[in-house]
Amino acid sequence: MSVTAIVGANWGDEGKGKMTDVLAADSAFVVRFQGGSNAGHTIINHYGKFALRMLPSGVFQSGTTNVIGTGTALDTGVLMQELQMLAERGVPSPKLCVSERAQLVLSVHRLFDELEEERLGSGSFGSTKRGIAPFYADKYAKLGIQVADLYDRPRLRERLEQLLAAKNVLLRHHYNRPAIDVGQLIDELQEAAAALAPYVCNTTELLQEAYRSGQTILLEGQLGALRDPDHGIYPYSTSASTLAGYAPVGAGLPAAAVSNVVAVVKAYSSCVGAGPFVSELGGSEAEQLRQRGGDAGEYGVVTGRPRRVGWFDAVATRYGCMLQGATEVVLTNLDVLGYLDEIPVVVAYELEDGKTTVQFPATSKLHMAKPVIRTMPGWGSDISQIGRFDELPEAAKQYVAFIEASIGVPVMTVSVGPKREQVIARRR
Ligand code: GDP
Repeated sequence: MSVTAIVGANWGDEGKGKMTDVLAADSAFVVRFQGGSNAGHTIINHYGKFALRMLPSGVFQSGTTNVIGTGTALDTGVLMQELQMLAERGVPSPKLCVSERAQLVLSVHRLFDELEEERLGSGSFGSTKRGIAPFYADKYAKLGIQVADLYDRPRLRERLEQLLAAKNVLLRHHYNRPAIDVGQLIDELQEAAAALAPYVCNTTELLQEAYRSGQTILLEGQLGALRDPDHGIYPYSTSASTLAGYAPVGAGLPAAAVSNVVAVVKAYSSCVGAGPFVSELGGSEAEQLRQRGGDAGEYGVVTGRPRRVGWFDAVATRYGCMLQGATEVVLTNLDVLGYLDEIPVVVAYELEDGKTTVQFPATSKLHMAKPVIRTMPGWGSDISQIGRFDELPEAAKQYVAFIEASIGVPVMTVSVGPKREQVIARRR
């Protein structure tokens, strides 16, 4: 019996989707517990290459039930597009359950996200404009719409009227836009209600029962620890907790249910959007790493934006693993560094007052922090076809050992390519 959270230790894009697809083979349930369609998870398996944004990454395993949990920001349009896309590409129809208590991302949330980014101009936080920040703001302002509300017409109208009373004042007077009519939102949601109906259920009871009966549950995180709104690089963070500690809350499981926390760590750093990024590279060094990174270069799955890249950052990653409470690490993208004879790594930060630290500072101090760099020997070869840890070049093993020592968590798995089978289990 086990409940495992699989989460990011960095800024996101660590390769969680790939690893969830791998681990889903042994999981009865894969559960999304937070976030919405604002980040993509790349999965490459025998069906082809996919970039999932709303569906859990267990949809390619026929024995797995996929759950969109209560803590998520449910974008029904994206969900339906993804289900259709899977069907068109020959993937068997996945088992899917959507929490009746999950809340819906509405067109008005996407509109507000766009209008706010426009208003902020160069001071924007790099939103993917999927409506996530306005969605969570409304959720906590108690203006949100739960999935179950879709099937109670009078209640839905009343809830939407309350929401629009707040939104329309801002639309007219703050953003200078026309007000939204409640009928427009009701029409939109009628379609969503019909499409969602076959999947809606009480996922909390479902998962609690699965937990009690000892089934294997995988809780799939989105983004990474450094995007957590409490502990990350606020305000360049996301709007829902990205931490394993939140996983049982967003899924509807007891806090003590989570027995393993698998933190996914990238062998170098990458970051989408604005915010302090101490290990960031520029010029040709960045371009070389960006072109080689991931499965087709480091470009955002949702936005197509070039990702900012840097060397492995031991300060940020140690902090990320600590926040996640990682019990083990999967180190991804190790193959990408095969072009280097020497591999720089960030081992400490120098702060504005000249002091060095290995503790990740608050955003106000992070802005001025400079990386303290050490160099590790590179292996200068392609390791993407290697299937056993002891067959890796000595320098690659040393690099893994260095990461393990600097973050204080055992690296149990190494990923050497984007495909499902490019995974090396490390036995001890
Ligand atoms: P996620 O959001 O954490 O699932 O990560 P993304 O899918 O946004 O980004 C990870 C990128 O790295 C994708 O392009 C993956 O195909 C790719 N990837 C994952 N693991 C590896 C690996 O070990 N090596 C290489 N070269 N690419 C990988």
